[in-house]
This record gives sequence, C-alpha cells and structure tokens, in this order.
Amino acid sequence: MSERVIKVNCPTCKEIVQWNDSSQWRPFCSERCKLIDFGEWASERHSIPGEPVDPDELAGMPPRHDEQD
Ligand SMILES: [Zn+2]
Repeated sequence: MSERVIKVNCPTCKEIVQWNDSSQWRPFCSERCKLIDFGEWASERHSIPGEPVDPDELAGMPPRHDEQD
C-alpha cells in the first residue's frame, strides 16, 4: 500500500509543493510566496474589473501627440 502524495505548484513561483502537514504554507512553498501572492491579490482589488490598467497611464503619461504637420 503506497501513500498518495499530493503535489501542487506554488501559485507564486511554480515550485512543486507537497501537500502535507509539513508544508506549512501550502499551496505556497514558503511564507514569502504566500505574502507575495496576497499582495498581488489585494492590489488587483483596487483596479476596476474588466478595465485593464496601463501602468504608464497611472504614471502620468503626457497626452498623445496625434497632431502632425
Ligand atoms: Zn513559491
């Protein structure tokens, strides 16, 4: 009788994580990856759903120069 080992990929760094009691941060490989993922999730909540946000626009890009001579 072999014990089944469930493995998942860390959502942050894609590292293989064994799903057992010793994997404290599952499905993440470490606390660091868990915090990173949570941070991204939290920041995504601030953006408008379905409305892609251009980082350059947020940075205060000057208006486009469509006028040409
Ligand atoms: Zn990870």
